[in-house]
Amino acid sequence: MTCPHCGEEMIVLELDQVEIDYCLACGGIWLDSGELEMLLDGGPEKDKLLTSFQPGEKIRERKKRCPICRKKMAKLLAGHNNERVLLDKCPRGHGLWFDSGELRQILSIGGLAESSKVVVLLKDMFGNQEDR
Ligand SMILES: [Zn+2]
Ligand SMILES: [Zn+2]
Repeated sequence: MTCPHCGEEMIVLELDQVEIDYCLACGGIWLDSGELEMLLDGGPEKDKLLTSFQPGEKIRERKKRCPICRKKMAKLLAGHNNERVLLDKCPRGHGLWFDSGELRQILSIGGLAESSKVVVLLKDMFGNQEDR
């Protein structure tokens, strides 16, 4: 699968039994449909976060294409008030794209503690790359 952001070939990593596609070049992460829910499991704010998703139509960031069907992805705002993250979502529901660092932001909005398994694994895998 190629990266929707920079076109490089992505690598597959396993994160707590969830397979994620990761781009070494830009640090972006692709999650197939349903995988975010799995990663957020146990987060006390999970439902609140998942119901906060709303279309970000007016946002003029370059549209990326779904790495599976190549359709232009829709902008999606997740989070609340001043803690919002702009994601890209396949209109056909194949999955979600997270720019570098956004997955960690989302997990934290979902209430996962810094010490939770998934967050620790992410940190181990990517270290400070994600904070660029
Ligand atoms: Zn990339
Ligand atoms: Zn798609």
